[in-house]
Amino acid sequence: EDKTYDVVVLGAGGAGLSAAIEAQAAGANVVVIEKMPYVGGNTILSYAELACPNNWLQEEQGIEDSPELMAKEMWEGGGKVAKKEMVDIVANNATAAAEWLRDEIGVKYQDYLVWEGGHSVARAVEPIDLGPGMINPLKEYAEGHGVEIMLNTKAEELIQDETGKVVGVKVSQGDQTATISANRSVVLATGGFGANVEMREHYNTRWETLDESVKTTNSPAIVGDGIVMAEKIGANLINMEHIQLYPFNNPITGVFYGIEAPSWSGEGLIYVNKDGKRFVNEVAMRDVRAEGILAQGGLVYAIYNQEVADRLNLEEKFADEYARCLEDGVFFKADTLEEVAEHYGINAENLVETMDKYNEGIENNTDEFGRTTSMVTMKEGPWFILEGVVSVHHTMGGVEINENAEVLDTEGSVMPGLFAAGEVTGSVHGNNRVGTCAIADITVFGRIAGRNAAAAE
Ligand code: ADP
Repeated sequence: EDKTYDVVVLGAGGAGLSAAIEAQAAGANVVVIEKMPYVGGNTILSYAELACPNNWLQEEQGIEDSPELMAKEMWEGGGKVAKKEMVDIVANNATAAAEWLRDEIGVKYQDYLVWEGGHSVARAVEPIDLGPGMINPLKEYAEGHGVEIMLNTKAEELIQDETGKVVGVKVSQGDQTATISANRSVVLATGGFGANVEMREHYNTRWETLDESVKTTNSPAIVGDGIVMAEKIGANLINMEHIQLYPFNNPITGVFYGIEAPSWSGEGLIYVNKDGKRFVNEVAMRDVRAEGILAQGGLVYAIYNQEVADRLNLEEKFADEYARCLEDGVFFKADTLEEVAEHYGINAENLVETMDKYNEGIENNTDEFGRTTSMVTMKEGPWFILEGVVSVHHTMGGVEINENAEVLDTEGSVMPGLFAAGEVTGSVHGNNRVGTCAIADITVFGRIAGRNAAAAE
């Protein structure tokens, strides 16, 4: 059935829901079009950790930080090929976005900070219920404030009027089609293309292959629909060749492990190959770690000990995951390093030596791989070991937007009536997204897109 709204948002992930709420708050009547039978996209599958400088937890803990420092680390981490003014906007508004999620939307946060590779200080906050802990309150808030969410409705094509202004979208619902018109504007928030094997093979230039042998952490819905629709009407695409591999994932599911948490907790763990040797700085940027892991030519292993697990309360927090992974054979725990090595056919003698060397390095402030942060001594068992492989995680490229979240065409001109935010855009993360910066991006630019979409004529 054809319908008309002021603002039509495409995609009900973190960016789309944030945009819809802000557009509605600015006085527009808003619909969110979502092709799946549920909301959330990649955002609900993520840990929804949000990097934000000078946040409430940093203040409590006396950690010094600044938006400038975060922007510098995002920009340099992304190989300096993002649009710097866009990176600045994310860093300058991330803390306000986190406070909005907490105070206005009702997202509940943990009382600890998360510290992903690429950040010089711990600066990310984490919802108590991770991705669902962010998406569920956003959905409830949106619906509670009059935003309509249309599930099982796929955006197929953007509609322009005779002047070129985007005025709506053709959608399909099963075998029915309809037109959803926008009095003011359309917001693209359909996510990236990590689950589209053809697209990632087409655009990838960095990795040897991204064919179906490489699994993905993404929702099956994340196949680049919005990018293709926008390109068809002349939108400029940028940074499309930059595709992020998440370094360490469950080899069976292709999805990252919660039980790899020491890696982003400030405690740290080590990676070893079959030879029982380390090969990379385990808290380096994701691209560096992925490269290091790929160079081992197969499975690699993450190792930490009971003391680390206890300090993070992992066995309680992730009891189900440990049990499932043990059963699937991708996790093992034993009293000695020799036992965990033997279980996976790793050179045990080397592994013992590797751990000694790592511990000595901590004492002497020298690390074989130049690691300087998230290092704690691990001397006593029991030992935890996980098998890991790389997976396609995030596509940095997408439609080009400006600081108002307006979509730009291939000449650099604003496309009237069309805004975009989130992973569908390509302006912020350069050639490598620094961990916990996506949630900052999608929330900050989702809000900007929503406000401006409501103000458009
Ligand atoms: P972001 O992090 O940018 O918010 P997500 O991956 O979380 O991105 O969300 C994108 C949402 O867009 C998902 O819920 C996905 O199912 C939805 N989506 C993707 N393509 C379409 C489409 N053609 N029509 C409607 N919804 C779509």
